[in-house]
Amino acid sequence: MPALHLLGTGAALSDPHRTTTMLAVSDDAAPSNTLLIDCGGDVLQRLQACGPSIDSVSALIVTHAHMDHTSGFPLFMEKIWLDGRMRPMPVCGIEPALAQVQRLWDAFEPVHEGWDDLPPLEWRPARHKRDALIWGEAPWTVTAAPVDHGDMPNVGLRIEHASADAVLAYSCDTAPTSSVVHLARGADVLVHEANGTGDGHSTAAGAAEVAAEADVDRLLLVHLPPGDKTAALHEARTIFPHTDLGEELGTYAFPSA
Ligand SMILES: [Zn+2]
Repeated sequence: MPALHLLGTGAALSDPHRTTTMLAVSDDAAPSNTLLIDCGGDVLQRLQACGPSIDSVSALIVTHAHMDHTSGFPLFMEKIWLDGRMRPMPVCGIEPALAQVQRLWDAFEPVHEGWDDLPPLEWRPARHKRDALIWGEAPWTVTAAPVDHGDMPNVGLRIEHASADAVLAYSCDTAPTSSVVHLARGADVLVHEANGTGDGHSTAAGAAEVAAEADVDRLLLVHLPPGDKTAALHEARTIFPHTDLGEELGTYAFPSA
């Protein structure tokens, strides 16, 4: 069954028990097909904490160039090397996001120079436009759409599972936007940021309005800033009742039984 793993649920600055927002999807019927989304921390440690192995990763998707979404990339590479990976590692995303992780990796070149048995990187750039294909290898089809994150090029994602008729959408960092409504139309789960007010971000209520318009089954709030979220969650539930705060290291089957 397809499962979503919330590897991190915090904003760049968050509570002591929330790291930066990172996601994975896995399928226990296809155990070598885990997709990772963003790496602004020790993404593979978080993945292991949720159950899937390092070797199960079929691709890394990077959404945008901010530190809290990319800065763990060199550590990600070191860990897949130490884990003995031989097959290539696809890295998927829009050009500015891929360029950022390429620079981060290059910054460590004096260190990894001579690591001859590193798995090859497969850069897979995607167009920065609505319905761009990010990943299309069974069982997952991932499409993207540009979202509204201030001046930063960024995409939200729609992740469809072929055999289970299951759909997950992820807003990534954005103000409420019709792009996410488009990505999330009829989804089982919408994972939406609720960083709060500010340029290129959403409140919990704003995320709930997107969830209601997209007619999703469930809304999970992530990218959560420090502090008490009770009032924000209550407000969101008045707009979209099936709203929850994303649980750090939470695993969610989708569609839910
Ligand atoms: Zn961002």
